[in-house]
Amino acid sequence: MEHSLKIYNTLSRKKEVFVPLHSPHVGMYVCGPTVYGDAHLGHARPAITFDLLFRYLTFLGYKVRYVRNITDVGHLENDADEGEDKIAKKARLEQLEPMEVVQYYLNRYHKAMEALNVLPPSIEPHASGHIIEQIELVKAILENGWAYESEGSVYFDVEKYNKEYHYGKLSGRNIEDLLNTTRDLDGQSEKRNSMDFALWKKASPEHIMRWPSPWSEGFPGWHLECTAMSKKYLGEEFDIHGGGMDLIFPHHECEIAQSCASQGKDSVRYWMHNNMITINGQKMGKSLGNFITLDQFFKGDHPMLTQAYSPMTIRFFILQAHYRSTVDFSNEALQASEKGLERLMDGYQSLLKIQPSASSSVDVSGLREDCLNAMSDDLNSPIVISHLFDATRIINTVASGAATLSEADLKELKDVFSLFLFDILGLQSSSTASTESDEAYRKAVDLLLSMRMEAKKRKDWGTSDQIRDQLTAFGFEIKDTKDGFSWKLNK
Ligand code: ZN
Repeated sequence: MEHSLKIYNTLSRKKEVFVPLHSPHVGMYVCGPTVYGDAHLGHARPAITFDLLFRYLTFLGYKVRYVRNITDVGHLENDADEGEDKIAKKARLEQLEPMEVVQYYLNRYHKAMEALNVLPPSIEPHASGHIIEQIELVKAILENGWAYESEGSVYFDVEKYNKEYHYGKLSGRNIEDLLNTTRDLDGQSEKRNSMDFALWKKASPEHIMRWPSPWSEGFPGWHLECTAMSKKYLGEEFDIHGGGMDLIFPHHECEIAQSCASQGKDSVRYWMHNNMITINGQKMGKSLGNFITLDQFFKGDHPMLTQAYSPMTIRFFILQAHYRSTVDFSNEALQASEKGLERLMDGYQSLLKIQPSASSSVDVSGLREDCLNAMSDDLNSPIVISHLFDATRIINTVASGAATLSEADLKELKDVFSLFLFDILGLQSSSTASTESDEAYRKAVDLLLSMRMEAKKRKDWGTSDQIRDQLTAFGFEIKDTKDGFSWKLNK
């Protein structure tokens, strides 16, 4: 951990050196999906951003406990506490048990994440499995005097809380703005103030998902699950809380209020937020109806898509932007990512075939440090990628015979390339020698082509042509080079 990682803390609004509370252990909580529909591109971004952080922290030597929750109580995605539970609505429409809906979409979510090579978190707790913890939290907030009961529901007293703590410190909003934006909510009459948010809601007769509590049969408020589950698995205080920027207000602002109100202090040290993916400048989201699901991307099955895009193209597209910048979707941008990724993967393939020389005529000594510095500067993946492109140019020069690399430099280049491309950025290629079976396959093709070279030396044109023609028929592209051959498998 001699490399100090700097991350941008939304709370302090600046980059800070990351110092864990209990090094080498790191606690990290990320708001996960609400499972009542297929994951779309907007879901891929936080998953990939915090996967990058998870991978990098692990590489730096930290032991990370990564908690990513599953919202399965079906809260609404906007600020309103009213309205039909979305999972229950889906269940009613499709005549399923609510938990059937949850399991169906959760299985599909996991499949999409696996395709994107997003590592599974250490713990994936369900909101519905932590109702007792959420009720305990409501009790504590009530006992401390920061909430009140009204008609079987419990509301957080924002105005009272704001006199002692600062409601709005994460989002930078002030309470007057809030008064104006939340004035026309339905069901205000139960609340003392329009900006108060629900900790517990009494269920209406048609509400399916409901639990007993001291106040009513009902369900927990939208913001409660993350406060309850992060505390259960990471403790009263923990290192990192992440999510999309759209969650800063009200969700994360309310989480801070719930922590302070229940335990007298903040629980999170570093708040991290990824920016949004936009379509024609508008946020992509289920509630806006302008989303393309990940499955539709993988199959090219959407009117806005001119072709299918592989999961790795999607991952690379997202990593080519810094996580705090917006990314605007377009077919052109995705096609450029597809080509760029192919260039890096081809570069790696060429690198594996380069023969070492007695000395190096090019300098590759700074590459590892440059990539590390970029990653440690608030996860600057686009800079890491640009360094790998520079390295690819060097590889191509060496492969063409215009430059040389010593055995030690060749090894360093291979190590750095595979460390950053595969382990940290988490990219994969079907033709990459990343596993033992791929390695064996690569050796088998090399062996055949070496036999072809022997045949040519013997002027055995029949055998030489046969090997070349057969491999070409299997989809291999074979080139004769100055000191041998090169090959790649065309997709
Ligand atoms: Zn959350």
